[in-house]
Amino acid sequence: MPLRHAYRPPGEASLWESFLRRLEATLHIARIHPATIQYLIHPKRMVGLSLPVVMDDGSVRNFTAYRVIHNIARGPALGGVRYHPEVGLGQTCGMAAWMTLKAAVFGLPFGGSAGGIAVDRHKLSRRELERLSRRYVTELIELIGPDEDVLAPDVGTDAQVMAWFQDTFTMTRGQTSLSAVTGKPPSLGGVAVRDEGGGQGLVYVLADLARTRGWPLQGASLAIQGFGQVGAAVARYALREGLKVVAVSTHRGGVYHPEGLDVAALEAHYAQHGHLEGFSQGRYITNPELLALPVDYLVPAALEGVIHEHNARQVAARVVIEGANGAITPEAEYLLKLQGVEIVPDILANGGGLVLSYLEWVQDLSMLFFEEGEVQQKLRDFVHQSLEAVLERARPLGGDLRAGAYVLALERINEATRLRGVYP
Ligand code: NAD
Repeated sequence: MPLRHAYRPPGEASLWESFLRRLEATLHIARIHPATIQYLIHPKRMVGLSLPVVMDDGSVRNFTAYRVIHNIARGPALGGVRYHPEVGLGQTCGMAAWMTLKAAVFGLPFGGSAGGIAVDRHKLSRRELERLSRRYVTELIELIGPDEDVLAPDVGTDAQVMAWFQDTFTMTRGQTSLSAVTGKPPSLGGVAVRDEGGGQGLVYVLADLARTRGWPLQGASLAIQGFGQVGAAVARYALREGLKVVAVSTHRGGVYHPEGLDVAALEAHYAQHGHLEGFSQGRYITNPELLALPVDYLVPAALEGVIHEHNARQVAARVVIEGANGAITPEAEYLLKLQGVEIVPDILANGGGLVLSYLEWVQDLSMLFFEEGEVQQKLRDFVHQSLEAVLERARPLGGDLRAGAYVLALERINEATRLRGVYP
């Protein structure tokens, strides 16, 4: 097995293992130099941290945190920061590798990184959250920056957290720097769009594919697991394309209405309560029930590995589009394909968030800011061009979008690695 010398993080490593397995499967169909493979199977830099935070009651608590740069063949690293109790090194390595691939699929000049803190943010006060966020950036201050490693949002982090990151970076370095952090509010150099690009881009991919592959669009049913930054944006943009959002959920369960849900009312309810229980429309469903609904489109937009070998056979959707990175395990993918379920992979489907990070980085470096219309148009163009490139690569591979996206990404990374050579 060519990847037997790959890096293996201690403890849980399912997402990194998924990456290795998908990489290995692609090596049969893509011509990748062994040196490139060596780079890809060993993350470039892994930092583990213990962050002490003074809690509101005066006690001190330490939080475990990570930052991993996977690869920088195509440019500085860029990747999200996750706040979630299950953040671990293997998962962070996997997320960083995903970013390397995604940037290559979208033709963006970035490598991949990821980070996170093992914390349940809902159990912290706002002041505790702020102190924790600032300490994270302080510990990484020599390792991050616009030309080294750019921070972006992920599960559990939002525009306010990004604003604290940016302020801490600026104050510690002693000079204003907007482009080390993306996903900031527009008043701090963020892009002039209200929505999260991952969800918006996903709907553009869905709509383009529906037109090219003859999938239903107007009135087609859609179920979304996860109603955060990505899931809620998917719901909003799906409505604009004429889809019917029949089910959404959070970690506590969700709601289902076969005739379609009122998305604006759902957002208002979620903003007020942080969950969907007690919503006036539809009936309550569990997350396993949501994943088994007979819908045209299913978008898992919460966490990785939610469709696995034990529940894949229950999936009754016609198409599954990965909003969350690594939502479908390799074992589940095999079973879904046997059932005839079409799959749109994460590195194509949710790359819109990365495109917005890129546009923010560009405007903050140049201090020349894009109008909202320009941002929207560029996002559409990037998504459209990337989908076209993936479809072209997928054609000789039986139309398999994951295989096409992986081949495209690996070829681009391979080319950059070959041209740069191995330093020194
Ligand atoms: P978020 O924190 O805003 O929302 C996550 C949502 O998932 C919440 O509604 C939460 O209740 C729900 N959830 C959590 N655990 C769940 C579970 N076990 N079952 C069902 N629902 C659960 O996160 P987000 O930023 O929307 O990210 C969601 C996914 O999209 C992640 O995989 C992330 O890596 C990926 N992603 C995020 C971005 C971004 O810029 N935010 C971009 C691309 C991809």
